[in-house]
Amino acid sequence: MQSEKKRNRRRSKRRAIFCPYHGCYMDSVSQKFPLYADKVEHLREQGINRINAVLLMSSQTVVPLDGQWMEAFWCAECQCVHWFHVSKLGGTYHVKLASRELWQRATGVINPEGNTSVGEFTRRHSRMARYNQVNQFNFCG
Ligand SMILES: [Zn+2]
Repeated sequence: MQSEKKRNRRRSKRRAIFCPYHGCYMDSVSQKFPLYADKVEHLREQGINRINAVLLMSSQTVVPLDGQWMEAFWCAECQCVHWFHVSKLGGTYHVKLASRELWQRATGVINPEGNTSVGEFTRRHSRMARYNQVNQFNFCG
């Protein structure tokens, strides 16, 4: 009974996202930056075949990647922040260390030309990022 309560509390507070070096829980220190594809190659990275990727990009300038985002996490062991490319599949989180290119794409360097809503969105996000002091990629030195 006691342990059941404890487990529920922890589950609601923390997602199962672990440091790739230590395997320990990490705390989120940023909001989620949604990922978009704005090039055929970006969709190809997602495992979409070339024909479908070309079709998708020809109908939309920016294709949102469902259930995928960029988020910064603090590891108490590493004493630094890691940026993760998080994907959520059926309630399970998959994380991998983000590349600088992907990070830039998610945090507002995407070309918003011809798409006002995305432009608005990224501007708002980069302002927030400044407040949160997470607008840099390399924390681990
Ligand atoms: Zn760590």
